[in-house]
Amino acid sequence: MTIHFDNSYVRLPDRLYTRQAPAPVPEPALVRLNRALAGELGLDADWLASPEGLAMLAGNAFPENAAPIAMAYAGHQFGNWVPQLGDGRALLIGEVVDANGIRRDIQLKGSGKTPFSRMGDGRAALGPVLREYVLSEAMAALGVPTTRALAAVTTGEYVLREDRLPGGVLTRVASSHIRVGTFQYFYARQDTEALTALADHAIDRHDTAARQADNPYAALLDGVIARQARLIARWLALGFIHGVMNTDNMTLSGETIDYGPCAFMDGFDPGAVYSSIDQFGRYAYGNQPAIGHWNLANLAQSLVPLLDDDPDRAVEIAKASLERYGTVFAEAYAAEMTAKIGLETPREGDMDLVDGLLKRMAEAGADFTNTFRALSALGRETGEADERFLAGFEDRGPVSEWLAAWRARLADENRSDDARIAAMKAVNPAIIPRNHQVEKAIAAAYGGDMSVFQALVDALTDPFADRPTGDPLTLPPAPDEVVHQTFC
Ligand code: AMP
Ligand code: MG
Ligand code: MG
Repeated sequence: MTIHFDNSYVRLPDRLYTRQAPAPVPEPALVRLNRALAGELGLDADWLASPEGLAMLAGNAFPENAAPIAMAYAGHQFGNWVPQLGDGRALLIGEVVDANGIRRDIQLKGSGKTPFSRMGDGRAALGPVLREYVLSEAMAALGVPTTRALAAVTTGEYVLREDRLPGGVLTRVASSHIRVGTFQYFYARQDTEALTALADHAIDRHDTAARQADNPYAALLDGVIARQARLIARWLALGFIHGVMNTDNMTLSGETIDYGPCAFMDGFDPGAVYSSIDQFGRYAYGNQPAIGHWNLANLAQSLVPLLDDDPDRAVEIAKASLERYGTVFAEAYAAEMTAKIGLETPREGDMDLVDGLLKRMAEAGADFTNTFRALSALGRETGEADERFLAGFEDRGPVSEWLAAWRARLADENRSDDARIAAMKAVNPAIIPRNHQVEKAIAAAYGGDMSVFQALVDALTDPFADRPTGDPLTLPPAPDEVVHQTFC
């Protein structure tokens, strides 16, 4: 079997990347193959699972037309400018055009050193590989734009972290790996020719309609801004904290990328931070919309040389585009949140109702996922299901008052309870990848038992389905299970 790689990034000016072969690993073994995704990509899953396919997924061998490269990029890490980052432990092995005609990157993560590795070993430990697999596939099933996981393998080699840990390689699929930091890299070098080639490539992949616009590069910027505003609204609606929203971890495609110290919240706290490296809460849950704007301002600045021949006019265009971010975000967030409380015909004042619930949830530390899921089951009239919802609040007074206001508002909706409940259950998941479950899966994997990981991934393919009462995957962590910090 040959994969029909068609590597358009390699046809761009060669300073956008360096060619780099992966470093072989001694004893590759498949942990999981995403057969559904393979099918979507037009790849033969049986071949991928064969020794030949496994060799490719581990970086040990390649089909003839693969052209592995490390992409160059820069970025702001926690607000600090780093002029050169680049793929330090990842390689783009090729692009395929999927069943829907969409070009997708296939990348190995943990495949060995590259010229961008700096002090790193170019490898990944199995834990973070499994973490990215679980989280990114859960996000996809939750309907969030995201990079995907095609496969996870173990390498038969150890990597040195805080401990000596088994190594892994993740095969990541993305509609592209172009980042805000990719533009920053060439802007910082005043390399307008490369910037132009990169922007044209991004338009071809993500904004083909921009080609017809009066100013295609302004239309590209508008497209990215809208996608990122909607993406971040979606994160907030699911209680997701990316954890490391550096500009090199923000895509042009609008897909979530780089599942390092990310987390889904248990109890609602707008200031929640899990990442061990985010000391000052820059990337806290509630800061994400503002950080999105900050990152996009850096993209806008990097595009200034392309926006107009007159620099002042170019800056004006960039600013006007950035101004739209707030509006798109507010609209997207309102749409997400009003749907979560079951309103089909949102109107003025509904966000006060949303905010009223969130405020009470924050005060009570109510479980984010379970509160909205329990709310989904409630009828217009007070009933048995109320207990399940109220149980999440120690002091029931304030939330009961909210419930009455919510029911009064539902009286103005035309949908039947059944239709509303079905719609709410389709946006309020029954399960999310809870940190303590992910940690358990990783600990078991390090002990040689992959079954916990497999079961978790399986369950999360259908996060909106009802779960049996008391299903451990629906439960917040017990006090001794709470994960306070996540690590890259
Ligand atoms: P991240 O925090 O995952 O966005 O990574 C930031 C930068 O560090 C990127 O350029 C990565 O490629 C690089 N990097 C992370 N881990 C390693 C590693 N083990 N070896 C080499 N480079 C790495
Ligand atoms: Mg990264
Ligand atoms: Mg990372």
